[in-house]
Amino acid sequence: MSIMVPSTTPALITPGRQALDSALHQLDQAAAHLGLDDGLRTMLATPRRSLTVSVPVRREDGRLDVVQGFRVQHNVSRGPAKGGLRFHPTTDLDEVTALAMWMTWKCALVGIPYGGAKGGVAVDPAGLTTRELERLTRRYVSEIMPLIGPEKDIPAPDVGTDEQTMAWIMDTYSVSAGYSVPGVVTGKPTTLGGSLGRTGATSRGVQIAALAALGRSPEGVTVAVQGFGKVGALAAQYLSDAGCKVVAVSDVTGAVHAAGGLDVARLRAYAAETGGVRGFHHADALDRDDLLELDVDVLVPAAMEGAITEANAARVRARLIVEGANGPTTPEADEILAAAGTTVVPDILANAGGVIVSYLEWVQNMQAYSWSSGEVEIKLRDLMLGAFADVRSLAAERGLTLRQAAHVIGVGRVAEAHQMRGLYP
Ligand code: GLU
Repeated sequence: MSIMVPSTTPALITPGRQALDSALHQLDQAAAHLGLDDGLRTMLATPRRSLTVSVPVRREDGRLDVVQGFRVQHNVSRGPAKGGLRFHPTTDLDEVTALAMWMTWKCALVGIPYGGAKGGVAVDPAGLTTRELERLTRRYVSEIMPLIGPEKDIPAPDVGTDEQTMAWIMDTYSVSAGYSVPGVVTGKPTTLGGSLGRTGATSRGVQIAALAALGRSPEGVTVAVQGFGKVGALAAQYLSDAGCKVVAVSDVTGAVHAAGGLDVARLRAYAAETGGVRGFHHADALDRDDLLELDVDVLVPAAMEGAITEANAARVRARLIVEGANGPTTPEADEILAAAGTTVVPDILANAGGVIVSYLEWVQNMQAYSWSSGEVEIKLRDLMLGAFADVRSLAAERGLTLRQAAHVIGVGRVAEAHQMRGLYP
């Protein structure tokens, strides 16, 4: 970790810039389809608020490191800003802005009353002790304190953060307020007002979207999952539980393949114990990049942005892609996949289960009430399937891909909110 200074190297295309370019391209397409005027387009392309903070962290050996943190509120026209917090070494303002924009369309698409936001800290959490991580989280929260609150902006887990991170956020905010404010953050432990069903919500949503898109019995359907973290591991589990044959998974440590199907529960236990899927005895090792090109029925990219690009899209053989990650497919890859007749269930639909149950958690917190896991699951399923049906019918009616239709609906609802509210002053 070190102090980040603005780079003087000319125009490097960073992964963050690539993600933002993708998000802006998708917005442009939707805005053109909706016939939005240039002024509104520019408003939607521009975050309402972006905050960059320096976060000093005292290391165990007494050293002081300073890392950069961000919180971007892309849009707040339909309700409080909502979105996760990411701890990742390559996170930058462009990436966080793209992710915040995708949150805006996602919340609008599934019909929950939020705008979109995202936070990030450019740090590798694996390189920090638990106490260092706690200090980092608390200081980051105190730096972005003016922006967040249950009626303003509500963080949640994302890559590199979890329910412990959310507990520290809730505590830091609550201590400053002088009373407990559970609704400031979602994805908390259930003892602090977290919702039943939140931990596996994104994965459950991926399963619901995948089965809806398959439209046939999942029995024996082959699946490859890229990413075996919070989203990928449980998505593999739920798809396997539904009868699919999960034949390959990958994570940062490597990839494993078993033509007869992996024992996902056993692999999850192995990965939890050893820190990754590499070396799992009941499967063959596989090159991580080859996983994306396996001859499977369903591919679930559940890692990071930019996994499927123009460099590998033509070699993707899965007929159905269900995006567990945010932004895993670039617009160039999208065109190649569409021409090949591959169906892509886009991120803002496929991975919306997380923010849907975040919304349910927030509603429970605001009412100081809690629902059973069955009630949460029914509500999640209803919202996922409702959004899926809206996207599929608009795509069929207008000859759009599922991604284009999802963006037309999401962007259209936000544009309508702007138009109804009018411009102040
Ligand atoms: N980080 C998740 C996402 O990208 C969840 C966000 C939330 O629950 O607010 O959708």
